[in-house]
Amino acid sequence: MTERLVVIGGDAAGMTAASRARRRRDLVDLEIVAFERGPYTSYSACGIPYFVGDLVSDLGELVARTPEEHRRNGIDVRIAHEVIGIHLDRRRVRVRDLSAAGAGERDEPFDQLVVATGAVPYRPAVPGIDADGVFGVQTLADGVAVRRAIDDRKPRRAVIVGGGYIGLEMAEALVRRGLEVALVDRTEQPMAATLDADMGALVAKSLRAVGVTLHMGEPVEGFDTDGGTVRAVRTTGRTLPADVVILGTGVRPDSRLAGDAGVQIGDSGGIVTDARMETSVEGVWAAGDCVESVDLVTGRRRVVALGTHANKQGRVVGINATGGDVRFPGVIGTAASKICAYEVARSGITEREAGVAGVDVVAATIESTSRAGYFPGGAPITVKVVAERRSGKIVGAQIVGEEGAGKRIDVLATAIWNRMHVEEFANLDLSYAPPFAPVWDPVLVAARKAADML
Ligand SMILES: Cc1cc2nc3c(=O)[nH]c(=O)nc-3n(C[C@H](O)[C@H](O)[C@H](O)COP(=O)(O)OP(=O)(O)OC[C@H]3O[C@@H](n4cnc5c(N)ncnc54)[C@H](O)[C@@H]3O)c2cc1C
Repeated sequence: MTERLVVIGGDAAGMTAASRARRRRDLVDLEIVAFERGPYTSYSACGIPYFVGDLVSDLGELVARTPEEHRRNGIDVRIAHEVIGIHLDRRRVRVRDLSAAGAGERDEPFDQLVVATGAVPYRPAVPGIDADGVFGVQTLADGVAVRRAIDDRKPRRAVIVGGGYIGLEMAEALVRRGLEVALVDRTEQPMAATLDADMGALVAKSLRAVGVTLHMGEPVEGFDTDGGTVRAVRTTGRTLPADVVILGTGVRPDSRLAGDAGVQIGDSGGIVTDARMETSVEGVWAAGDCVESVDLVTGRRRVVALGTHANKQGRVVGINATGGDVRFPGVIGTAASKICAYEVARSGITEREAGVAGVDVVAATIESTSRAGYFPGGAPITVKVVAERRSGKIVGAQIVGEEGAGKRIDVLATAIWNRMHVEEFANLDLSYAPPFAPVWDPVLVAARKAADML
């Protein structure tokens, strides 16, 4: 008898799971139906800032696989279809057809279910938050809406609320489009949730260097509107005129549908799964921004909304939901971002997070250059390495610099993942030639300094 796999959410996690399942089981054996409420599937949300900034002008380039391509591949994708309920006892989902010619609501049966509903931008509960011109950014449709507003309304002034990496990448995009950009955040430094304050200060400097005005330590109190359209952002310190506002205030896992159905939700708000990505309900799987993952450094469960995890978790679901047996081991929060010429990257825990978790650490910060000092084109790079004092193991790293700085985090991430001692890391046989690095790569210099501090 043909089994039926239903997927909720047609982006990274959901369609990776569907595609992987399709490769393992043929059409006669397994019917795969994917519901996506938006118009796009398998898109790159990560590319939105570059689309808004016009570095990428063709929207199609951000779509890895269209609904038609998925259908040709044997996956029955239904766009403009929102799943509004999951009935676990009857093994059915309730689906609403959102298309103009839609036929209302109906139930769809499943044998295996994949929840890949992603995340939703956090919207602070302040007056004016729902005004026209205030944009959250999560799906490609959100990105299209922002770009349309820039192209059509030709705004002059933008305010970014929230200095996380999405806010900063959107700031760069709007600077590229010639807008006056201001950034407000209740914390004292940008990227306060993911970087230590000393490294965040370098990011602040980078933002000012590209013309972004910063108003830090100023929570937003509301938005002034005129005829329903945003006109200004009010913080505790000032009123900033704004033709367009981008919310970079973080995201929360979209786990409501699963939670309402009785699937276990963790303290983080994400769906709880085991390492095989199966939820508390047999045959119901979850992956991507809607789930919580094990942090391999602290052992705690938390939501880390990144495309890297969504794709890997989707693959694990696609294999396990079709009879395989693979594991998603966990995360260490490796991420990189670019703001104009500046690259920012991090992995593991920060010095501040170590303090909160009660882990006694040494933290070494060094300044070096990205190439041999005499080689043209080199730029400053700052590397911070955090190591546990007791064991000497590297538990975190942060990098801020220019070209060639960001991807250096990967070698440190590999060390964190493998619980490498900082002394051992300092002796690693890394490559060197003047166009790429000084003879002691900056990551080795930082590790050496941390080893000396132990
Ligand atoms: C601007 C931006 C830049 C980013 N840059 C990076 C980066 O550089 N590196 C990185 O690793 N990550 C990055 N990310 C994060 C990355 O895009 C996400 O982690 C990834 O898209 C998560 O994939 P997902 O499939 O779990 O969720 P999503 O991509 O959010 O997809 C979920 C889908 O489910 C649909 N859906 C939700 N509920 C329902 C329902 N009830 N019925 C039907 N459909 C539903 C939604 O419409 C959506 O299309 C970025 C994100 C943004 C917004």
